[in-house]
Amino acid sequence: MNNNKLNCPYAKKCGGCQLSNMDYARQLNFKQAKVVKLLGKFRRVNKIIGMKCPYNYRNKVSAAFTTTRSGKIISGVYQSATKLVVSVDKCMIEDKFADEIIVAIRNMLPEFKIKPYNEFNHKGFLRHVLVKRGFATNQTMVVLVGANSEFPQKEKFCNALVKKFPEITTVVFNVSTDKFSMLLGEREEVLFGNGYIEDVLCGLTFRISAKSFYQVNPVGAEILYNKAIEFADITENDTVIDAYCGTGTIGLACAKFAKQVIGVELNKDAVKDAEINAKNNNITNAQFFCEDATKFIVNYAKKGNNADVVILDPPRKGSTKEFLKSVVTLQPEKVVYVSCNPETQKRDLFELIKGGYKVKKIQPVDMFPHTNHVETVCLLSRK
Ligand code: SAH
Repeated sequence: MNNNKLNCPYAKKCGGCQLSNMDYARQLNFKQAKVVKLLGKFRRVNKIIGMKCPYNYRNKVSAAFTTTRSGKIISGVYQSATKLVVSVDKCMIEDKFADEIIVAIRNMLPEFKIKPYNEFNHKGFLRHVLVKRGFATNQTMVVLVGANSEFPQKEKFCNALVKKFPEITTVVFNVSTDKFSMLLGEREEVLFGNGYIEDVLCGLTFRISAKSFYQVNPVGAEILYNKAIEFADITENDTVIDAYCGTGTIGLACAKFAKQVIGVELNKDAVKDAEINAKNNNITNAQFFCEDATKFIVNYAKKGNNADVVILDPPRKGSTKEFLKSVVTLQPEKVVYVSCNPETQKRDLFELIKGGYKVKKIQPVDMFPHTNHVETVCLLSRK
């Protein structure tokens, strides 16, 4: 393990890596202590699993473009608070090849008379560039985000880019007309390739399009999900609920051990992706529902359905009292709670404990080295 500090020249201005002043071993101790402080009263906390290589782990890199007062084009991190772009050419947690592509695009702009979009007078064109990489497949997607549909010489530009980097497998042009936004717009046009890339996670192939959600640290995600699956210890007669399932990653990885998997997720695009992912991996015992997880599980419990294992991976704000009460009503043998926020997880664990569950295992995983985020998987079972 490399224990050096990040020594990032952009650290202060960028602000993305809150722990950049600590070496990696200290960061892990810091995160371990945070989880112990919050969850240690429930159970002994296992030693945090860190990343073997805590650098260049991000497979998705987004860069904003702007022109400085002196007329120089820069690209880098967009600070929403100040609406300024911090010039960053190389980031120590981002994929190196993605960073290279972004710098090359920036250098190509003058030749093609493409101007960065200006947030203040709304002139110009290129807002940002998004690069997504499939680490396991080595596929690369470039998304060029323009402020309007008038992309000067788009075919020529795309051809020149792909010629420079033959490793690029698809190029997408996205139009984002929103005045202030780092998000992608509705409209998109595939300029090269098939408009999506694939990656392999937990032995399954996942399709990633410009807009679809995918774990930004797939190496860390696999460690986390494998822990969740190990804790769930699913057997062939089990019905597994994967709540807040996103594109179905955890549920689909469980499917081969279970009788059936039921996924529930609010985002309709993610649900569509989950269904496609199931099909592409020949998984026939997984069903996905697009609904609020609480509403879904309350109804599911009311109807007298059963579940043997409930896995939940809610957003930072955690789950709801009603959701957790319905889990208690369902009486699954095991609950596996995957969390990106130990504070809300602590609150939610109390609710399950009140309902008769006991915390059996707590495993922190460092999925985002150098930032202050920590993920935790907890196993609970009925007393
Ligand atoms: N397990 C997923 C990621 C979970 S992130 C994966 O492996 O990809 C949390 C997810 O919860 C997001 O996809 C978000 O859209 C979803 N979500 C947020 N609020 C929700 C709600 N009320 N009901 C269902 N899903 C919700």
